[in-house]
Amino acid sequence: MDINLKIDSMRDEIIKSTQEILKIKSVEDTPKEGMPFGEGVAKSLEYALNLSKELGFKAVNMDGYVGYAEYGEGEDYIAVLGHLDVVPEGDGWQYPPYGAEIHDGKIYARGALDDKGPMIAALYGLKAIKDLNLPLSKRIRIIFGTNEETGSNDIPYYLKSEKPPVAGFTPDAEFPLIHAEKGLTVFNIVKELERKGNGDIKIEYIKGGQRANMVPDYCEAGLDAKDKGAVIKKADEFAIRTGFDVKVEDKDDKINS
Ligand SMILES: [Zn+2]
Repeated sequence: MDINLKIDSMRDEIIKSTQEILKIKSVEDTPKEGMPFGEGVAKSLEYALNLSKELGFKAVNMDGYVGYAEYGEGEDYIAVLGHLDVVPEGDGWQYPPYGAEIHDGKIYARGALDDKGPMIAALYGLKAIKDLNLPLSKRIRIIFGTNEETGSNDIPYYLKSEKPPVAGFTPDAEFPLIHAEKGLTVFNIVKELERKGNGDIKIEYIKGGQRANMVPDYCEAGLDAKDKGAVIKKADEFAIRTGFDVKVEDKDDKINS
């Protein structure tokens, strides 16, 4: 059978497994015994490893830090490295963030793209290779990371007892795949905000977002404005132009928007 037909034949199973794992809220939480990154993360790892076993693979849980599914023979292995943890869901969802509902042919959930969907897809890809008996010169190991969003502390644990792969790829984020990321920089921009001359507006603070590595769903600024009407007008114009939900509150004679 052609591999594409094989994948198509597993369509319903792939969707069902993806929905099931998306329903597990796997945001890092308080550590528990055998669950170094909290209960939700541990549950998602358990789910992925049970599924791997059901699909006929060797599946190993490395003390809750990381796990893998493996197929094939040989000394060297190729890694498919992704992760099952997610950043917090934030607010403003059109559909429930852990509902995994399908609308217009898309699954909506935190982690659908980053990175549970691609992990499940990789697992079924390996299943297709196995079922079709496609020849392999190396083992293939799908590594289920569990701490990618908050420090990747799973990988040093993995490398303590496992040798690194000879090659690999990371099905994380945009299609089709990313070979390597250049890095991530988290930094603060600090500026003293003061009213200069007879400026009309003083910015007292700006805050927004829950984590440095997620798109902020909300942003708030405190303004000390001489002409409140002008600020309200600008905020209304901004709301119309962008379609954003903008609220202006008059607080202690100051404006929050
Ligand atoms: Zn990711």
